[in-house]
Amino acid sequence: MSELQYQRPRGFRDILPADSAIWKNLEDLVRGVVQQYGYREIRLPMMEKTGLFERSIGEETDIVEKEMFTVQSRENKESLSLRPEFTAPFVRAVVENHLLEKKPFWKLFYLGPAFRYEKPQKGRYRQFHQVGMEAVGAEDPLLDVELMEAFMDLLDRLQLSGLELQASSIGCLDCRSSFRNDLLRYLESVEPQLCEDCRRRKERNVFRVLDCKNEECRTALADAPVIYEHLCEECDDHWKKVVSGLENAAIPFTKNERLGRGFDYYTKTIFEVVDPELGAQNAVGGGGRYDRLFENIGKEAAPAAGCALGLERLLLSMKERKNEDVLRAESGPDLFLVWIDRTCQKQLFQIASDLRDQDFSVELNFEDRSLKGQMRAADHSGAPYVGILGPDELNAREITMKEMESGSEEQISWDKIGEKLS
Ligand code: AMP
Repeated sequence: MSELQYQRPRGFRDILPADSAIWKNLEDLVRGVVQQYGYREIRLPMMEKTGLFERSIGEETDIVEKEMFTVQSRENKESLSLRPEFTAPFVRAVVENHLLEKKPFWKLFYLGPAFRYEKPQKGRYRQFHQVGMEAVGAEDPLLDVELMEAFMDLLDRLQLSGLELQASSIGCLDCRSSFRNDLLRYLESVEPQLCEDCRRRKERNVFRVLDCKNEECRTALADAPVIYEHLCEECDDHWKKVVSGLENAAIPFTKNERLGRGFDYYTKTIFEVVDPELGAQNAVGGGGRYDRLFENIGKEAAPAAGCALGLERLLLSMKERKNEDVLRAESGPDLFLVWIDRTCQKQLFQIASDLRDQDFSVELNFEDRSLKGQMRAADHSGAPYVGILGPDELNAREITMKEMESGSEEQISWDKIGEKLS
């Protein structure tokens, strides 16, 4: 066979029917869980103005510096980018649609593709899917705890065990300005070991040095100071309440002082869930509080917190534990219709239409094949019933209904098929 000239772009994937059934079940389950926690869906555009991401995620971050798919709009040469994440678009949408004027507290979730121009590898793609929850309008540390609870609850329903919740606090702008001097002093002492990016970031946004994935930088940062000694009273109090909230809810977690989230907008609580079974790309999701982002993007300040999970990584974690069966149930049609003689096909077409009007899902054979071949197709479809129509049944306005599991057959009149199926 000649090679296909236009293959899908690197890092992009097709989801074929066998997998799309699993995806659908995963999405349904996720929607069910987040709705139990009071989150309602928001659907956001895939593109935003590039400046939104630069301003919120931060210009010195990997995402903004290297990973966005950016195009120039034709009419006014404006720069637009495919969303690399949803938090900034969520904030933009809340502000732009004046949601906080309608009520002061919102819990919204989203589910959809995001795009990052990263080097593809297992668990890392250029188009991937996230589900996320965002809550705006409350400073309460218990809201942070509830987010983590919902996250872990979801993993539980997917029967994913052994994943680790890591949490920390990165304080507020005040805590960070005092921490900044300490960190700078340390970075001066290890400067020769730092990569070029980190040396530049050290001058422009010192905290982003902490996210560097370069091995040598990671080694150099092993003894870097941590923010805890610099937390102000309010942030320290918030963190303590998060810790006690997690303990009271019996949610196991590890305090990871070195947790970095790679975004500028976080304040106070941050967290991540990692799957030790996943290898290099082991973060299944993460989130935190971002109390300053609303005033950064809009005019009004509003406290907020959120998190996002990667659906591809969730599926990989399930595969690793061989428990994809949790999501396997692929639903076939209610009925598959086959003919003994092509002359019966027209009537089958009509029967199928009538049954669909009654809300049943029905498939019909279109191919030129023997009854045996058609029965095989019916079997593959997963339909619990097959309706067989031959010339005799056609005259009697009846059909042979075969129950696939037991193999039993009976003749029933066309107007009784619906009753039989339900
Ligand atoms: P982040 O906000 O960057 O921590 O991303 C949240 C989650 O999205 C990650 O924990 C991953 O599960 C998923 N994710 C992020 N980037 C990618 C990617 N390039 N490919 C697949 N999943 C990703």
